[in-house]
Amino acid sequence: KQQQVQSEKVYDTQCPYCSVQCKMRLIEQTIVTRKKYVTVGKENPTSHGRICIKGMNAHQHALHKERILYPLLKVDGEFTRISWEEAYQHIKENFTKIQVEDGNDALGVYGSASITNEEAYLLGKFARVALKTKHIDYNGRLCMSAAASAASQTFGMDRGLTNSLQEIPFVECIILAGTNIAECQPTLMPYFEKAKDNGAFIIAVDPRETATTKMADLHLKIRPGKDAALANGLLKVIVEKNYQDESFIKEKATGFEEVREYVSSLSLHEIAELTGVPAEQIERAADAFGKAETGMIFTARGVEQQTDGSLAVRNFLNILIVTGKIGKPYCGYGAITGQGNGQGAREHGQKADQLPGYRSIVNEEHRAHIAKVWGIDKAELPRKGVSAFEMIEKMDKGEITGLFLMCSNPIVSNPNADFVKGALKKLKFLVAVDLFVSETARLADLILPATSYLEDEGTTTNLEGRVLLREAGFPSIGEAKHDWKIICDIAQVLGKGEYFSFSSAEEIFNELREASRGGIADYYGITYERLRKEGGILWPCPSIDHKGTERLFEQSFAHEDGKALMAVVSNVPEVPKEEPNENYPLYLTTGRVMSHYLTGVQTRKSPSLAARNFESFIELHPDTAKKYGIKNQSLVKVESKRGSIVVRSILSEAIRQDTVFVPFHWGDSQNVNRLVSPKLDPLCKMPGFKVSTVNVSPFVEK
Ligand code: SF4
Repeated sequence: KQQQVQSEKVYDTQCPYCSVQCKMRLIEQTIVTRKKYVTVGKENPTSHGRICIKGMNAHQHALHKERILYPLLKVDGEFTRISWEEAYQHIKENFTKIQVEDGNDALGVYGSASITNEEAYLLGKFARVALKTKHIDYNGRLCMSAAASAASQTFGMDRGLTNSLQEIPFVECIILAGTNIAECQPTLMPYFEKAKDNGAFIIAVDPRETATTKMADLHLKIRPGKDAALANGLLKVIVEKNYQDESFIKEKATGFEEVREYVSSLSLHEIAELTGVPAEQIERAADAFGKAETGMIFTARGVEQQTDGSLAVRNFLNILIVTGKIGKPYCGYGAITGQGNGQGAREHGQKADQLPGYRSIVNEEHRAHIAKVWGIDKAELPRKGVSAFEMIEKMDKGEITGLFLMCSNPIVSNPNADFVKGALKKLKFLVAVDLFVSETARLADLILPATSYLEDEGTTTNLEGRVLLREAGFPSIGEAKHDWKIICDIAQVLGKGEYFSFSSAEEIFNELREASRGGIADYYGITYERLRKEGGILWPCPSIDHKGTERLFEQSFAHEDGKALMAVVSNVPEVPKEEPNENYPLYLTTGRVMSHYLTGVQTRKSPSLAARNFESFIELHPDTAKKYGIKNQSLVKVESKRGSIVVRSILSEAIRQDTVFVPFHWGDSQNVNRLVSPKLDPLCKMPGFKVSTVNVSPFVEK
């Protein structure tokens, strides 16, 4: 007999997971003494009411019984409940002691791209004004830094998409390079499906066959790490067959002749050998893109998470410029961000080299603007720090001895994870702000409970560059506080309260607007009131009466001369990548599955999501498995120079024979990043997650 719903409440919110930031509604029904929750999609300009399995079940982690409910101090190896006041006093004592003993720069701040714009902004200010340290960086360094660097170099600015998603259905030819949208941003798939219905030719670049490549007309099953070379092959065919747009190049670009000369000197046969993609397929892809009237290129972590990731992306941008497919209707570039606020979190100053409004920390004018907004002397503003992984190297060397970690799990997300764990263990004092006791929080001296997406208010900026407002509605769980409130309270205890006297996220946003004014990511014209009315606004939006910017670069690029800057990208990267050898004969590449997000701290707590993928796995080709004596669904030891893990096998012809794939959502004995090479891209400091080499063998229990 069906029981009656006695009361119903609704909470309008936004998905905490991927960069689409789908709007959704949580419905809470009271049935006798129990509560039932259902999440449904809400109409919005990006996902139009669609949500995926992650969004549908997001409330399961937010309402999970293992949420941290109050501050926890580690005493004799055990976490013990303390009050917020006690927690703040511990922070004051320990941070002050470190500053006196080791200097201000011995304190580090490690942020996140899953926090709101307001919190990202405030965290950068907190590091520089309250802690007076130059050492702040965030987990987006491991996610978006290559695409951001490439777009900044080529176009003079970086916004995830140069034009809105609404144009995709009308594009004639689309290149999806290193992106598995069907699993990672499922609610975007209808844009591409509509494009196909309208006759678009879709080219996918991936070492694996995925749900995304299956939609493509042409799948270039590339050898891991060879994306820059593949783009050179495409460019070579494009210029040799005269598909270039001469007038566009002449008017709007610099550096073309050098690129033409370089790609003309290359042999297509050699590129085919190097990339593992047959020459005819490279030619077919170049023909399709070159002949099309309109075209877009999308990249994601497959291209970007490499030690030449920023240059690999630049080479795809070269293709857009040579063919004149940018700054026009149905033409452009998109970096498909991974993290929920991957775009916004990289604009407001939680990067080592950056100040709010996408300003540069080394530019004296930019420093003066921000110092004025913050009410401090420009000379007090710390200089440039180092990237996320380099901060960890400093922890290992004892140069950073205290860390404030906000909503991030670096032990699972960084390469060479055992080294990372060892480095964090050396800290004198580690404070972690989180929802759950993650693998990294376990090592903390103090854990502070944060509110979840349901309880938290603030803005995020989705992959298009569209600023969205998520209103708080759900009551805070336990004693959890908003991240921004925790930052303000600590600043107060440290004697810097005057700079952090905010009583709402909106007040912080209003300061952020001022800080961003006149910068590349100009939010000045965006207000909470407008966001409530209009649903979302694409930056730059420099004044209250500005409607936001749908398409970038229609008149000119953002460099001083108004032109796009092309770059010669060598087939031979500056930092050599690991190549298969006798001891480690297979490429290892990593990625995501649909039901999990980042290091799985949230999604592994959701029963519905965990049930879909409750453990990690290794995908390998049946011929490869046979060669190494591995049976389907058996335990496999996967070993690199840096360590080993044990995961279950899935045999699949979808993957190249020289490559294995392991997802990165699990920690401890299943943490694939224990195997991954820690080499960094010298330009943007992105680790080369997508290319390591490993050995595989059947796991034998001893
Ligand atoms: Fe939308 Fe991404 Fe959330 Fe899925 S995970 S509901 S696609 S924001």
